[in-house]
Amino acid sequence: MEQATHNATLNRPRRAIALISGGLDSAIAAQLVTQWGIEVIGLHLVSPFGCTTDAQKVADHLNIRLVLKEKGNDYLDIVEKPKYGYGRNMNPCIDCRIYMFELAEQVLLEEKADFIVTGEVVGQRPLSQNKAAISLIEKKSPLIHKILRPLSGGNLPETLPEERGWIKREHLLKISGRGRTQQFLLAQQLGISEYASPSGGCLLTEGAFSDRLRDFFSHPTFATETEKLAQAEMLKLGRHFRISENAKVIVARTEGECQSVELLWQKSKGILLQPENFKGPLGIALGNLTETEKIQAGAILARYGKKAECGPFQIKSHRLGAAEIFTIAEAASDEIINSWRVGIT
Ligand code: SF4
Repeated sequence: MEQATHNATLNRPRRAIALISGGLDSAIAAQLVTQWGIEVIGLHLVSPFGCTTDAQKVADHLNIRLVLKEKGNDYLDIVEKPKYGYGRNMNPCIDCRIYMFELAEQVLLEEKADFIVTGEVVGQRPLSQNKAAISLIEKKSPLIHKILRPLSGGNLPETLPEERGWIKREHLLKISGRGRTQQFLLAQQLGISEYASPSGGCLLTEGAFSDRLRDFFSHPTFATETEKLAQAEMLKLGRHFRISENAKVIVARTEGECQSVELLWQKSKGILLQPENFKGPLGIALGNLTETEKIQAGAILARYGKKAECGPFQIKSHRLGAAEIFTIAEAASDEIINSWRVGIT
């Protein structure tokens, strides 16, 4: 009986978890492995700084199920103090990949899958995708030999799915470097037309976003893990202004950002700032604001109102369970605004 069960397990179709970023390379990797007869489930790791829309579109296009898994506060800890350091900006790519594979292993076990698939290309990213870094990341992750890289695997050591005969080594490609020509050709051959543009990459690699992140870590205005995560999520929104060591103001730029502000201000334990007698965007103030700082926050909001030259401006502020209207005489000048600005985007 035990033997029969064992054989049934061995004979079942093989299943892989493919990391789907929303970009082209991971879509190609998932599609290739599907064509090689493996059942593929997509996995998108949701960053507090990222967006899931592209990954879901790609999964729908490839006709695969997509599992979403959140990168939580432990991810923020890694970004703040990475063991293996940063790239050019605040991108801790080696620590980040190890963390991603730890989450991927959890999904591999939950979904009873056999191995992981990634769209990594040797030499594409200087910090995390050279051969030495790939080997280090794999050794430090719980997935040693279980990570298949269809785009570059022909140049890498043998993996478990090849050893077991589930994947033929001669199928694996030998792409390397930063060029994209081969991937665009493959996309055509495989009929992949839905993927995010390469320019929409990781915010941690951007200088302006890294400035915001450094400011966030060095001026904590959160008391709980939920507040910290919500405030981290707001780093990608709006314009940011550091008005004192204890207070920061964020002003939305678009209708969509106003909606995000409305969703996040309570979670982040911020103060929602809303124009009362003029048209303009929503804002959030973070920290324990003094009376002077409250007026400064209002002056910033008024600066982005539709009639910025004409005061007085009334602003409604909402804290949890309380609201008040306060008045300011003038909007902040551009000179002052620029002296407070953090991470121009
Ligand atoms: S580019 Fe960003 S998401 Fe990718 S490994 Fe580096 S830090 Fe992580």
